[in-house]
Amino acid sequence: MNKHIPQNASETTASESAAGGLLHIDLDALASNWRCLRDAAGGAEASAVVKANAYGTGIEKAVPALARAGCRTFFVAHVSEAVRTRAVAPDATIYVLNGLLPGSCAAYATSNLRPVLGSLEEIMEWAAFSRAEGRRFPAAIHVDTGMNRLGLTVREGLALPIRSELKDFEPSLLMSHFASAEEQDNPVNGQQIKAFTAVRNMLPDVPASLANSSGIFLREKPHFDLVRPGYALYGGNPTPDEENPMRPVVGLEGRIVQLRWIEAGETVGYSGRWTARDKRRIATVSVGYADGYSRSASARGQSGEATLSGMAIVASRLCPFAGTISMDLLAVDVTDVPEGDIARGVPVTLIGGALTIDEVGRRAGTIGYEILTSLGARYRRTYREAQD
Ligand SMILES: *Cc1c(COP(=O)(O)O)cnc(C)c1O
Repeated sequence: MNKHIPQNASETTASESAAGGLLHIDLDALASNWRCLRDAAGGAEASAVVKANAYGTGIEKAVPALARAGCRTFFVAHVSEAVRTRAVAPDATIYVLNGLLPGSCAAYATSNLRPVLGSLEEIMEWAAFSRAEGRRFPAAIHVDTGMNRLGLTVREGLALPIRSELKDFEPSLLMSHFASAEEQDNPVNGQQIKAFTAVRNMLPDVPASLANSSGIFLREKPHFDLVRPGYALYGGNPTPDEENPMRPVVGLEGRIVQLRWIEAGETVGYSGRWTARDKRRIATVSVGYADGYSRSASARGQSGEATLSGMAIVASRLCPFAGTISMDLLAVDVTDVPEGDIARGVPVTLIGGALTIDEVGRRAGTIGYEILTSLGARYRRTYREAQD
């Protein structure tokens, strides 16, 4: 299993005692989440979105685990990610979401990759390349139904059947992307489904795909022929207003490097932004913002104040952060942890249990997606293999 040679810093695995943070990635939960999403999508094919190094979990580990679970189609953002995916999934269908940069057709063909064409210009370039090579190369066509980010306009999409370029290459997927699928009652969802269905009806023979993770759970069930989950695969909650149906995939532990008592009125960390109201015990933990732990989870104000900032689980107790997060360290107020349960070297949970990626994101003023995709290069990564 370990024949993969690390190709970038995110694959670095320091030894356990040499690393500041321990990242646990559960490939069994990943595979189980994929099966759960496949079942939720009814008869539609379930693909996997593995852009951004499989949301921080590692393409070289995540893709083979998903392929073994039965996943055949993968989406990435860039050609570089697609090439890494191809190396571990020789038979998979791989789409590149960001589309075609000028003059890059040959790079796609070489690795048997499919661009997601997002403009008439891209369609013309792919068609010309196919004509020149004498092969109808497959590609997806992206129609923008509300993001105003990537894709043909709906008007351009409705006019696709009369374009001669569609005979030059193989349109293998027609897709669009939800802007607000995590909001079950947002009327934009229905409008996007309607616009996409209209374009789809113009190209009835081309498989269609609209739903991301949250889209799979919309009451309209806009599954079409293929669903494209990303976040939910990695344990994020696709239904924020309801209980998370997914299993957690990522866990993070830091270690206590020092413990100290401080007196009332003393501050912790850079710029003294957090003040002890009474005598407090502070644990300094070996993870900081250079590990990708968001500095915006820093704690300001006074001890005991209910502010929205980071937390750690120390000996089964939720403990609040104290002060500004540093580059390599963060401080936790562990006053409430019994003396016998805490010592130098003891691991503390930064992601795991009640500290889900959604919760860690909320406490950092961001979303769980950003927590996952920021997971640092210095962590020692351990993978639990799928138990299939
Ligand atoms: C990132 C992305 C997805 C996956 O979205 P999640 O919300 O992570 O499930 C699907 N489709 C497109 C076009 C994307 O860019």
